[in-house]
Amino acid sequence: MRIILHLLFFLLLTYWHFSCQNQQAQENDDQRSKHKVTVMGENNYIPSYLELHREGTLEQRGKVLWERMRVCDLCPRDCDSRRLEGQRGDCNASSQLMIASYGPHFGEEPELTGSKGSGTIFFTHCNLKCVFCINADISQKGHGRKYSVDNLAQIMLELQENGQHNINLVTPSHYIAHIILAIDKAAAQGLRIPIVYNTCGWEKPEVLRYLDGIVDVYLTDFKYGCSQQAGKYSPGAWDYVEMARKAHLEMHRQVGSVQVNQETGRMERGLMIRHLVMPNNVACTEEVMNWIGENLPKDTYVNIMSQYMPVFRASLYSEINRRITREEYRKAVDAAKQAGLTNIKTQP
Ligand code: SF4
Repeated sequence: MRIILHLLFFLLLTYWHFSCQNQQAQENDDQRSKHKVTVMGENNYIPSYLELHREGTLEQRGKVLWERMRVCDLCPRDCDSRRLEGQRGDCNASSQLMIASYGPHFGEEPELTGSKGSGTIFFTHCNLKCVFCINADISQKGHGRKYSVDNLAQIMLELQENGQHNINLVTPSHYIAHIILAIDKAAAQGLRIPIVYNTCGWEKPEVLRYLDGIVDVYLTDFKYGCSQQAGKYSPGAWDYVEMARKAHLEMHRQVGSVQVNQETGRMERGLMIRHLVMPNNVACTEEVMNWIGENLPKDTYVNIMSQYMPVFRASLYSEINRRITREEYRKAVDAAKQAGLTNIKTQP
């Protein structure tokens, strides 16, 4: 009888032990699937870079671009700086990644910011060097801190965990190799939200091709429609118009026109163009609008911006040393309409 009682007690103990383990396993599973929901991105959005990560293409592309920093030709300045040896290029960047700040940003277009903000990463330095840059402390005076590629991957994951709707890479061109390698590492750890490439538009199309399938949204600033002005106010960028045109064609080839998620109202893929209206028509707005109207679909997203401020070195140029007038802004919007554009965003 005593043996039977011991046996029963043992069986009960074993059952309780396994039942507790199963419960714990179930709880762990629940947590994992919750995490999975988080990392799948909103509405189970599957970004295109995931496939490239799985097949090893992201790492390959990142390494190829990294090598190009040996004698750097990553942007139209083609300055041949030996960045891997510590030299700084015309953009002022060496191969040391520098970031000024990151976090949720609500100043972008509403389709990108949603309710929790765009996960914006402001990279230090810039290749265009506009004399009227509103972020000159970051772009030209070098404000920022050093980070590794691993750090950048963790930043992306942190922004996703915080609920930001996308990773918004501001002024990314000179760090394109670091960025692709970081996306590869972050994708391995669950990054699933769209990538926004936020650029001044002065890009080499053949370098942009390395971003095919990685970037979901191109957010560009089509700054000038005339070469003379480009070279003057973005010193040395004489080929801005030619390069920006080719770059916009390539970006559109990759992502097409904007696609807004009907459920969330947020942008998940496509080309979004900004154009900053400048005093005395320095940006050659009509030329920009006409080119878009003639070379891209008429429903291309075009945000005509009115917030030009005469900051940084703008006071050295009397023609841009003021804000724009209402009349100048109205003419810019009229030019977009005359060009047949139908998806124009305007500002008060
Ligand atoms: S990215 Fe910088 S270093 Fe490379 S070519 Fe352009 S300006 Fe020169």
